[in-house]
Amino acid sequence: MATHEIPLSRPDITELEEQMVLQTLRSGRLSIGPMVEQFEKLVAARAGCRHGVAVNSGTSGLHLALSALGIGPGDEVITTPFSFIASSNCILFVGATPKFVDICPTTLNMDPAKIQAAIGPKTRAILAVETFGNPAYMDQYAAIAARNEVPLIEDCCEALGCVYKGRPAGHFGRVGVFGFYPNKQITTGEGGMIVTDDHRLAEMCRSLRNQGRPLGHIAPSATNASGSWLKHERLGYNYRLPELNAALGVGQMRRLDEILEKRMRVAEHYVRRLAGHPHLALPTIDADTVMSWFVFIVRLSPSYTGEERDRVIAGLRRQEIGTNDYFPCIHLQPFYREQFGLGPGMYPIAESVSQRTLALPFYSSLTAREIDHVCQALEVMIKQENLSPRG
Ligand SMILES: *Cc1c(COP(=O)(O)O)cnc(C)c1O
Repeated sequence: MATHEIPLSRPDITELEEQMVLQTLRSGRLSIGPMVEQFEKLVAARAGCRHGVAVNSGTSGLHLALSALGIGPGDEVITTPFSFIASSNCILFVGATPKFVDICPTTLNMDPAKIQAAIGPKTRAILAVETFGNPAYMDQYAAIAARNEVPLIEDCCEALGCVYKGRPAGHFGRVGVFGFYPNKQITTGEGGMIVTDDHRLAEMCRSLRNQGRPLGHIAPSATNASGSWLKHERLGYNYRLPELNAALGVGQMRRLDEILEKRMRVAEHYVRRLAGHPHLALPTIDADTVMSWFVFIVRLSPSYTGEERDRVIAGLRRQEIGTNDYFPCIHLQPFYREQFGLGPGMYPIAESVSQRTLALPFYSSLTAREIDHVCQALEVMIKQENLSPRG
């Protein structure tokens, strides 16, 4: 039995990243410099896109993507209720209204068959999430968006490096956004990246992240005192990614394939270990998908209640095993209920799934022994719940 704590996630950082951050620190250039530029190129290339715009979080990137597309008050954006809160909050930031569409119970992404019915005269975009790194239906979302002449915004914050029908995450939407919080596949501490093929959209995002400075603006330097540094053409923000964080990101991008490979091996070990368990559903992955594993989620069978799932989580935590209830439904969060009159029963599949899912410890250095220990503890907890009287 493992006697040490096994966290839910842990970044994979080596001496390469340490050296890159240290070099950047010593260079004296701490903002708007070569590391941001290099990081943008590396991530854009991985997404098969012409432009990358680095920002200080995935949430900031989503905010800018919606702003740059001109989405605002009175507009509706179609999205999933089963996600991290930011994929919906960004719609509120610009004053628009989220229109939720229920999910498919196997892939956990928005059900494409239900999107068309949700599209109305106020629909201005479809914002799709590659939930837990699974890109299922991205091509269908793009086709539905094109047919209805609205942009597809791809929240690929959980999906860096995954490939669907030969196309990488970030390449399906008019614009895509990656996130680099420490629990993602790669991290910059905090950070995000907007990717797009649309030059004007990229320039608008660059201006908005940098206080609304003129399009095509370059940082001031000894040789480029253009005087435009204090010109602000539109309401902008400070969403810039610092050079130190970008340096960490460049190091991580150089090791991306190695990191994804290690995560794949951990996921495969979990699948081998838990496959066939009578009370557990494991992630479903289409044949034409190369997953980029963000987290490892298991789902208790439909006979289990939310309270029983919560007790399994509490039991694992008592044994110092990191776990969480990814994700509570967005439409059931207090301020969404209040502001939009939402409540239980509106998106029944998302609600049913979210009551029974839990995330297990997942990171590249997780050992086979640790995985076995986690699975054993999980099996014991499930059995206990199964034996306890139902009320
Ligand atoms: C991580 C994540 C984000 C962005 O999160 P930040 O912490 O702001 O970088 C956005 N959407 C989804 C679905 C995410 O998982």
